Amino acid sequence: MINIYVSGVDPVFYRDIELISALFFEDVKVTDESGTGDFSLHFTIEGGNPIGVSVTLTDPNKMQQWHASHQRAVKSDEQGKEYRKRVKQAVSHALLQVLQESTGIRQPWGILTGVRPTKLLHTLLLDGKPMEEAEQILIRDYQLHPEKIELLKEIIHRQTTVIPDLYELNKEVSLYIGIPFCPTKCAYCTFPAYAIQGRTGSVEGFLAGLHEEIEAVGEWLKERNLPVTTIYFGGGTPTSITANQMDSLFKKMKNSIPSYGRVRELTVEAGRPDTLDEEKLDLLKRWKVDRISINPQSFKEETLKLIGRHHTVKETLEKYKLARRMGLNNINMDLIIGLPNEGPDTFRQSLDVMEELRPESLTVHTLSFKRGSVMTQNKQKYTVADRDETGEMVRLAREWAKKMGYVPYYLYRQKNILGNQENVGYAFPGEESLYNIIIMEERQTIIGLGCGAVSKIISPMTGRIKRWPNPKEPQAYINTYRRHLTGKLKVLDEAYGAEVCKI
Ligand code: SF4
Repeated sequence: MINIYVSGVDPVFYRDIELISALFFEDVKVTDESGTGDFSLHFTIEGGNPIGVSVTLTDPNKMQQWHASHQRAVKSDEQGKEYRKRVKQAVSHALLQVLQESTGIRQPWGILTGVRPTKLLHTLLLDGKPMEEAEQILIRDYQLHPEKIELLKEIIHRQTTVIPDLYELNKEVSLYIGIPFCPTKCAYCTFPAYAIQGRTGSVEGFLAGLHEEIEAVGEWLKERNLPVTTIYFGGGTPTSITANQMDSLFKKMKNSIPSYGRVRELTVEAGRPDTLDEEKLDLLKRWKVDRISINPQSFKEETLKLIGRHHTVKETLEKYKLARRMGLNNINMDLIIGLPNEGPDTFRQSLDVMEELRPESLTVHTLSFKRGSVMTQNKQKYTVADRDETGEMVRLAREWAKKMGYVPYYLYRQKNILGNQENVGYAFPGEESLYNIIIMEERQTIIGLGCGAVSKIISPMTGRIKRWPNPKEPQAYINTYRRHLTGKLKVLDEAYGAEVCKI
């Protein structure tokens, strides 16, 4: 834990100081109790226009000081909340500079600590800013590295090509179905994923609730005349349940969702190869599933053991080939950068295997230490790549993807992500996942059904977003799904008002 003593700044900015500092150090705490810090930050803030912020970092151990300052112009109509936002930006800028100088670390995403940088660029473009001006804003206001700006531009271009009506999608909705079971729990995972072995009763009870939710939401969609753009089965690993159970679910969807035949994309995550067999793959094909994922995460046997995947590299390769033989022709694979004991050499080897397989899309995650995962709870047991190695692997992935003809089409960031990097979805042009774009850019309501499914309800009238989470744990879901369903339908009614979509 690093304690940072701060002075000269309103406590309202402590959280922002903590967030920026956390890009450089693990476990940061900001304090204003004098004499308690590992180092100190003294701010001087001059209000008015422009806002002037200067900061001095004093490291008593090295007996050294660093200084930085930043000036932020304010528009005449920026008062109150808007003005405070500008002061906050100026504080973050000055702080980022002084920390970059004192540590020698350059932050690729500047002062941006949110998860969706692409959404920021979409918003600027929707506000009518030409791309060049939007770029300037990303540099001036957020200090984004030019490399990251190029990546964002490429992604936005891809997204609007793949979904030309991206900005008008609020006349439709998407559905997310959460199946909370997996063969075992991976060490880095915080998804609602419960080992399925010995849970027969709760699987059946959960599925009964899910069927009821599908029916009720189907009714609501019918009343509103709202078409469904995409359906995504996630979890957990949906293919953990039996072929019969999956078959009944698809039947229920077909009979309940009014525009089922016109859905643009149906995805089923089949992430764990150990859940797949011929019967299930045949079923996915028969139900016209457009896209599945089979996720290696790594092609190194020892890594898979270390992270608790309980399947082998051989099994990943076999199931991938089986899925191909069964006619599934849009397969996504995930790799994770920075898994324990893996560096650029191991990652390069994983990319070599990918080169042989050529899945239609590849999602490259960077490891993040999520609160509550087994890995985070036992962090000292794992050796992971440092900041430079992580950056090198992110670059390797980007160069490799380009060479292979993949294009980046969605991106998001997570807290405590190694090297303050990002997760990027790459795909061959035309094979992108529409759902991934929609969820990242928050362009339409996604109704979540099942365990741990979070509905993101976007009012087509006001654009306001309301989240409605379902319980994560199967038994809690069984006990309370009716109450949650009633609440969700009420929130949907409020968001959509009396409006019925005319198509
Ligand atoms: S397969 Fe995916 S959802 Fe299941 S435990 Fe592993 S990371 Fe979590």
